[in-house]
This record gives sequence, structure tokens and C-alpha cells, in this order.
Amino acid sequence: MKLFDDFYVYPWTSYQENNCNTIFIDGPVPTLIDPGHSHLFNHVVEGMARDGKSADTIKLIVCTHSHPDHIEALDHFDNGVLRAISREEHGYLQEEGKELFLMSGCQAPKKPFKLFLKEGQLTLGDKTLQVIPTPGHSPGSICLYWEKERVLISGDTAFYMGVGRTDLPGGDMAALGQSIRRLAKFRIEYLIPGHGEMVRGDKPIKRNFELILGEFF
Ligand SMILES: [Zn+2]
Repeated sequence: MKLFDDFYVYPWTSYQENNCNTIFIDGPVPTLIDPGHSHLFNHVVEGMARDGKSADTIKLIVCTHSHPDHIEALDHFDNGVLRAISREEHGYLQEEGKELFLMSGCQAPKKPFKLFLKEGQLTLGDKTLQVIPTPGHSPGSICLYWEKERVLISGDTAFYMGVGRTDLPGGDMAALGQSIRRLAKFRIEYLIPGHGEMVRGDKPIKRNFELILGEFF
């Protein structure tokens, strides 16, 4: 689904099976954000094909965090595709984060991450995303903010009417609260979470942050 020129969202809408929302940013550095589960990756391939795009063009994959439902499909890509994650999350994936793959019977990605994201700017051709560390759901979770169109890609930190769970290994409710309070200060017109519905419009998004901060923290 095209949201802007060169910016596509592939939401996961099935209630039968867990998977994440995936984003594709086209341009000089075709980039995929959160590929999702391996056995469900075809929905991204098909969605891209409907938009006249090919998953074979992808050069960079950015992961908001390392949970299996967001990154298992990384191994679908060959070694020429650059994989990016925060350094904190990479360390977590080598230790307690790995347990989640064992617990869920998923394969941890074998091909290496070579780009480690930290607070600051990630330039993809003519688009600049701001990398915002948002620990809580996992130790090295990040969100991505595209200031030009006021888009926040919030991973599993903030959802429509909800927040990421903190009962998994590495979860931290106090850290999640701080991360969400930080996000609530951004001017956002499109909130694209890692699961569930997108929220559109400055006011509904402000209300959503007020609601989740009031309810969970
Ligand atoms: Zn997660």
C-alpha cells in the first residue's frame, strides 16, 4: 500500500497468525523495515508486486528490534543485502534475545548484521530518518521518525491503544514509559506501529499517546 511516493506500508491484518507490519522505502537505497516471519514473507513479496516493486531490489533491511516476528525473514535475503539493528539489540540477540527464537521454534537469522544504528540520522538517498532509541519492549528497540512527512515508525513500542509487552526477556516497563513519553513530544501525522492499525492525524495521535500513558504508566 502506497502512503507517499517511494514509501509503502504492508500491514499484517490476519488475526489467525502473528506477524508484523512491514515498510518499504524505495529510492537510491531500497530499504525494508521489519521483514517479519519467514513463512509469511510472501505477503510482502506479493504486496510489493502489486505496487510494481520487487523484493529483489532491496539493499538495506532495518530492524526496529530483534523479536522473531519482526526479523525471522532476514535470511530470505542474500549476503549482499545490508542488515541494520541497534548495537544494544544486537548484543541482546546474542544472549537472552536468542531464547525467544528457541521458545517460539523459530530460526534465529544466521547472516550477520553489519550496520549498527544509534541515535541520529539515517540517510536513505533523498530521505532522512531520525533513529530514536526506545528501550522497554526490548533493550535496544528503536523507532524511526521521518520529519518531512511527520511519520513515526514505532515498532513494538507504541501501538494504537496499546504498548509493547514487557514480560518477555529483556523487557522493562519503566524504560518503556520513558520511551513513550519521549515519542509523545514529536509532531506526528502518521503513526505506523509494528502491529495493528496505523493512526493518522496529529490530534488522534496525541490522544492515543495520552490514552496509553494514562492507562499503562
Ligand atoms: Zn516485539
